[in-house]
Amino acid sequence: MKLKELGEFGLIDKIKAQFSEAIPENIEGIGDDCAVIHQEGKDSLLITTDLLVENVHFLRNDITPFELGYKSLAVNISDVAAMGGTPRYAFLSIALPSDLEGPWLKSFFDGIYELGKKHGILLLGGDTTKSLQGVVINVALIGEAPAQQIKRRSQARVGDLICLTDTIGDSGAGLDVILKKRTRGPLEDRLVKRHYLPRPHVEEGNWLSQRNAINAMMDVSDGIDSDLKRIMEQSSCGVKIDLEMLPLSQDLKLYSQKNNLSPLELAASSGEDYCLLFTLKPELLESTLESFEKEFFRSFFVIGEVIEDKKFEYYFQGQVTHLKKIGFDHFK
Ligand code: ADP
Ligand code: MG
Repeated sequence: MKLKELGEFGLIDKIKAQFSEAIPENIEGIGDDCAVIHQEGKDSLLITTDLLVENVHFLRNDITPFELGYKSLAVNISDVAAMGGTPRYAFLSIALPSDLEGPWLKSFFDGIYELGKKHGILLLGGDTTKSLQGVVINVALIGEAPAQQIKRRSQARVGDLICLTDTIGDSGAGLDVILKKRTRGPLEDRLVKRHYLPRPHVEEGNWLSQRNAINAMMDVSDGIDSDLKRIMEQSSCGVKIDLEMLPLSQDLKLYSQKNNLSPLELAASSGEDYCLLFTLKPELLESTLESFEKEFFRSFFVIGEVIEDKKFEYYFQGQVTHLKKIGFDHFK
């Protein structure tokens, strides 16, 4: 079978099947945003790694080196945030073409440095090599969280409300600006910024993870259409999403209108928003919402419900409907 038929998630399942049996009970491996290593009497370690490849994840002549450095770290911080952890130590491995200029490199490292400094992350090592085929960046990040505070993709319960910590779709619209080479005004620039400089929701993740009201949690990296399937697999449940409840920014609505795009499709399937998706005990909605608003001076958004049947259902105006596009799979 070819890799493109197996798909990214099929491949990960095969790796998991081959390597999981030797993993002891105090360690959680493949399947969540981070691996978890529990330690006697100490906070647990959360470990994650992400790869950014030129022409797959970014176009070097469009993204600034600062943004590229920033984003390489941000996507990893988001995975730590997704489990309720605090990011601590980073390792940076890079494959670079030898004709890169000094100022480019300086800005790239500044992007990593600025975001790392903001979160108190220490860069402790990595690897550097020549590349014959564009820039490749891998960041590995270690975070910490009290064991009892960690939230997982596997903890969703039937009846839970499905919620988001931010609007979705802006990053996808930004990517549309880049790929379709649209003329850029202030609106397009803001959307591109959302794509290149995502804010990992560390404070929100920390806050949510401390509450019993929250069951499952993950970050939105591939788009909810794909990410919710991970929750379904890990929690053995289904989901029902009301498309009319998807939180859309004014910018996304304007951009979609201007370019004749479906804002709901962009919101559900384009990904890289890096906000948090969580499931919430329905009886605690009001009190959780109230405290969240007090803490963050804004709301979170309810978009649907966890159901028993292992089905993924989208509703629009009370009717079951379908999304044309599927979530982002690297080999399809
Ligand atoms: P995320 O989008 O949060 O980075 P993914 O959905 O990409 O997570 O990955 C799902 C799970 O599969 C994670 O636990 C990740 O560590 C694991 N994984 C992905 N690729 C590999 C690989 N090549 N080898 C081992 N585990 C992998
Ligand atoms: Mg993730």
